[in-house]
This record gives sequence, C-alpha cells and structure tokens, in this order.
Amino acid sequence: MIEDSQNSRTNLSELGEFGLIDLLTKNLVVKLPSTIKGIGDDAAVLDFQDLQTLVTTDLLVEGVHFDLAYMPLKHLGYKAVMVNLSDVYAMNATATQITISIAVSNRFPVEALEELYAGIELAAKIYNVDVVGGDTTSSTKGLLISITALGSAPKEEVVLRSGAKPNDLLVVTGDLGAAYMGLQILEREKEVFKVNPNSQPDLDAYTYLIERQLKPEARRDIPPLLKKLEVLPTAMIDISDGLSSEIIHICKNSGVGVNLFEEKIPLDPAVISACEEFQLDSTTIALSGGEDYELLFTVSQNDYDKIKGNPHLTIIGHMTEEREGMHLITRGNTKIPLKAKGWNAMERDED
Ligand code: ADP
Ligand code: MG
Repeated sequence: MIEDSQNSRTNLSELGEFGLIDLLTKNLVVKLPSTIKGIGDDAAVLDFQDLQTLVTTDLLVEGVHFDLAYMPLKHLGYKAVMVNLSDVYAMNATATQITISIAVSNRFPVEALEELYAGIELAAKIYNVDVVGGDTTSSTKGLLISITALGSAPKEEVVLRSGAKPNDLLVVTGDLGAAYMGLQILEREKEVFKVNPNSQPDLDAYTYLIERQLKPEARRDIPPLLKKLEVLPTAMIDISDGLSSEIIHICKNSGVGVNLFEEKIPLDPAVISACEEFQLDSTTIALSGGEDYELLFTVSQNDYDKIKGNPHLTIIGHMTEEREGMHLITRGNTKIPLKAKGWNAMERDED
C-alpha cells in the first residue's frame, strides 16, 4: 500500500489557480529524450522521430468511478495513471508522456491535491513517463480527473483489436477477478464502519484483493516480454470492464467467434476463497468483475511453443469462425453463449 499523510488544511482559494499549478507540478521533472518541452508553455512539444504515436484519454468522475470513502487520494492518483498506461500497453506500445486535467471543488484542501499528485508522481516515476501538461479548473461538486497518455511504437509492432483470425489462441496475462473482490471487501468494511466507527477491521487475509483494487499495476512488462519471445499478437486489448466484454470486443472487431474454457481462466486462491465467502461464482466474477488491467490477446497457433508454460501467460481458449458464435465451455462441458455482462449460472437459457 502507499503511505498517506494528511495533517494540515490549506484552502484552495489561498493559492489561486496559478499558485496551485505551480505547487502541484513543482516536482515533475522530465526525463525522456522524446519530451522536448514539458509543463510551462502553451503546449508540450514531443518528438517520436520515425515511431508511430499513440494517444488515449480516460475521464474519472467522483461517485461514478471512485469513492473517496475508501480510496485514498494518493492511490487514486496512481490508479488514474495506471488506467491510461494500460491502454497504451494494450497497443503493444511504450507509454511515454501523460497530461493531467483536474476539476476540483473547494471542499478539497490543497493538501488533498498534493496527495493526489504524490500518487501521480510515483506512478510516473515507476513507469518512466513524463508529465508534460494538464489543466486545472474548479468544479461545483466533486472531483474529476482526466488523464491523457501518449506512447510510441514502431509501425509494425502496433497491435489493434481487429486482427484476430479463426484458430488463433486466446491468451490472458496474470489472474482475474481480484480487483472486483477487493471492492466487495472495501464496500463491506465501509458498511461495518458506518455502524461502528471504532471497529478495527482485520484485512490481512484480503491484502492481495485490496491491493488489486486500490493499487493496480498496468502490464508494462508484457510488450517487451512478447518481443523477447518473438511473438506479435494478432489482436490485443486491456481488461478494464471484465474478461467477457473484452473478448466480445476482439471478436466483433476481428469478425471471429471464440471458445473460452472455464477451467482455464486464471484465478488467484484469494479470489476463490473470497468468492466462497461472498457466495459468488468465481467464473462470473472473472468474466464481469473488471478493473483487472491485465492484457488479453490472440496469437497464431504457430506461437504455441513460445507461449506455453510462461508464468505470466495463460491460454484460455481459441478463436473460431464468426458464424460459430462466442461461447464459454463450462467445466461440465456445456456450451454457453458469452455475454457482455459475463455469465450467470441462473440465466442459462437466455441469449
Ligand atoms: P493555459 O492557460 O495555456 O491553459 P495553464 O495556466 O492552464 O495554461 O497551465 C500552465 C502550464 O501548466 C501548462 O503547461 C499546463 O499544461 C500545465 N498544467 C496546468 N494544470 C496542470 C495540472 N493539473 N497538472 C499538470 N500540468 C498542468
Ligand atoms: Mg489551462
């Protein structure tokens, strides 16, 4: 977990917009050769030479995408960066720069925004990206954060969602469902806290799940790993909404179908035991939980030997002809249509 410190309260109006920008950006130093000019002019100047440029934006809204009751601001800053970098890595590219725009109500003290920026700074440092700009404005109510990430890659290495072919293998990194179960734990503790503010929750057993929710890590390691293995995916996407909805995106964009094998879906033991505790079906959670920020990709069958046995990669299915449809093959060998909202054991007969 990231440490938090929040003692004093300085009102935003004491600093004013420019004072605030100066305070928040004073520690942000640029380090990449592709950053020609960072913060401090009307626009940043970047130079990717002969590489292709990737651009992606996400907007996070308080009360919709995050709840400050259990999301410390430093974690929020870190996670907001991860969400964006994950989209760059999902193109098989290197993330290089980010811009940060915030709209903030005066209920937040300056120190809270410094916490937010401490998380952003930490993420930028660990992931080697430069913060090259942003915008700062007021909001009447909550906090909004919009981050734009830029990246670069040689033209021939960029991987779209649209290149999957029938018979390609479907591969996922890491394990699934933990971020969603972490959220369930945090929601439960929030309710307990409402009833008894003196309660001291013992969350040790849930460390992995809570970390996956509060401090996700984007898979920066995967594009270089694939390069080392000499594997160029035919299609790739990151898992923000849940496995099934991302598989459906690849299928629709590529004009293919899929057979996904329930028994192959990678689950951490902590997810399995939390699902038992909450009486949830772990397959449903992996399929629809979301926020795992793992990468999902397809590769040619010819690459099987390069992928198999790699501890970061699990083959979970294969692509089919489009007319064969998109299916989950259950442990009991039943074929169930895959839905964007995942698979629910109670809804077997609906399409
Ligand atoms: P402008 O009037 O051109 O929009 P600003 O005064 O808003 O310029 O911003 C001054 C500089 O600070 C610009 O380089 C801008 O990109 C950067 N900046 C503004 N707000 C932020 C922020 N929240 N985070 C990082 N950089 C910021
Ligand atoms: Mg501005």
